[in-house]
Amino acid sequence: MLICAATNNAGKLKELRRILEKQGHTVKSQKELEIFIEPDETGTTFEENAKIKAQAICAASGIATIADDSGLQVDALYGEPGVYSARYCGVHGQDEANNDKLIAELNKLQAPPYTARFVSAVCFMLPNGKSITLIGKCEGSVICTRKGTNGFGYDPLFVPDEIGCEDGTTCPNEQGKTYAQLEDWQKDAISHRGKALRQLDLQLDEFLRQNV
Ligand code: IMP
Repeated sequence: MLICAATNNAGKLKELRRILEKQGHTVKSQKELEIFIEPDETGTTFEENAKIKAQAICAASGIATIADDSGLQVDALYGEPGVYSARYCGVHGQDEANNDKLIAELNKLQAPPYTARFVSAVCFMLPNGKSITLIGKCEGSVICTRKGTNGFGYDPLFVPDEIGCEDGTTCPNEQGKTYAQLEDWQKDAISHRGKALRQLDLQLDEFLRQNV
C-alpha cells in the first residue's frame, strides 16, 4: 500500500524505505509530499513520540503514515540517551556530536562492557485516526571508539549481539562488528527497526480488516 514515512532523518528514511519496499509497499517521504513540519517530540516514551509524529504527518499527508521513534539505551547510563538520542548533545540531529557526547560519558565510567539496546516504536496511522504501534529491540553493547562508516546516528558505536546471516537466519556477532560495519541486509535482519516493522507486517492485514 502507499505509505508516507514520517521522518526528516535521511538515514532513518533510507531504512524505512528499504524494509517497507521489501514488504511490497510504496513509500513516499515527507519531502516528496512537500510536508516540512517537524512535530515536537513532547512524549516521555518511544511509543508516545511515535504516535505524536504519525498523527501530525498523517493529518498533513492524508494517507496512511508510519512514524518511527527510536533510540539507544545504555544500561550504565541509566537508559540514556533513550528518547533524547537525537538531541543528546543538546542540538537535534547532530550525529557526530551525539557520538562524541556518548564517548565522553562512557569514558567517565568503569571498564566496559557497556550493555545497551536500540529500541524502535513504529506507529502506523490511518487518516481515520486509527493506529497501531509495535516495538522492536536489538540487544548489544556500546564501545568508546567509532568503527565502520555505514548507516547513521550511533551506528559506529553499537555492537549488536547478533547479525543477519546469509541463510536468512541470525547468528552471533562473533567478530564484534558495529551496526556501521554491517551490510544493509545484515542490519535489517536484527535491527530494532527491522523487528518492529516485521511485527507490523504480521499484524497489518488484520488491523486493516478491523479499522478501515
Ligand atoms: P528520533 O526517533 O527521530 O527521535 O531519533 C532517533 C535517534 O536515535 C536518531 O537521531 C539516532 O541518533 C538514534 N538512532 C535511532 N535508530 C538508529 C539506528 O538504527 N542507528 C543509529 N542511530 C539510531
